[in-house]
Amino acid sequence: MILSTGRGLAIYGDENRWPKNIIPYDISAITDTLHLNLITNAMETLMYAVGTPNYQSTTRNSCVYFRPKKENDTNFLTIQYGKRCSATVGFRKSQRIVMHLAKKGCFRSGTIQHELLHVLGFWHEQSRPDRDDYLTIHHENIQEDRHHNFNKYEWSSKAYNQGYQYDYKSLMHYGAKAFSKNGEPTLVPKQTNAVIGLRKKSSEQDIVEVRHLYKCEN
Ligand SMILES: [Zn+2]
Repeated sequence: MILSTGRGLAIYGDENRWPKNIIPYDISAITDTLHLNLITNAMETLMYAVGTPNYQSTTRNSCVYFRPKKENDTNFLTIQYGKRCSATVGFRKSQRIVMHLAKKGCFRSGTIQHELLHVLGFWHEQSRPDRDDYLTIHHENIQEDRHHNFNKYEWSSKAYNQGYQYDYKSLMHYGAKAFSKNGEPTLVPKQTNAVIGLRKKSSEQDIVEVRHLYKCEN
């Protein structure tokens, strides 16, 4: 299974995009009501952000739809507890598509939305092939078994920038001290004053990219 460890930007190709922009999900393994509410609220927030505004109204037409799975859905997202926060990247026709959320550390709206963006087909921003133009990676500060999280992806059939520039503000960007073994930064932006790893909500460009990938209409 391909999990969200590293890589950069959107997965390419119709076969990894959710059919009809619908993401049926099975959330039956999540037992805590607070957790259930956080997950469904994160879905609502992301759906609204991706939605198309209606003229002179605060309502929006959804463009991607997360909804509970129905009996005849054969491909769906399974959401369950796990040891860390991770998710399958993009739609997979003949594979389980799973989001794991650790009870401690994953139940924040921004974190859940980050995992949902993986599910929609996005890799980590700092794994873009052009990331070295934007970041210095301090390998000496990375935890020994975590170097793979800083892999750089090559542009290929599975990594595609859709024509968009590097986005420091992406919800898919790690923070400066991600997987640090000594409290020192592992990622330092080359652009002065750039802030990375906000992880609270999707950036404007994240939304533009989701709308592009899912061909949302204006
Ligand atoms: Zn991730």
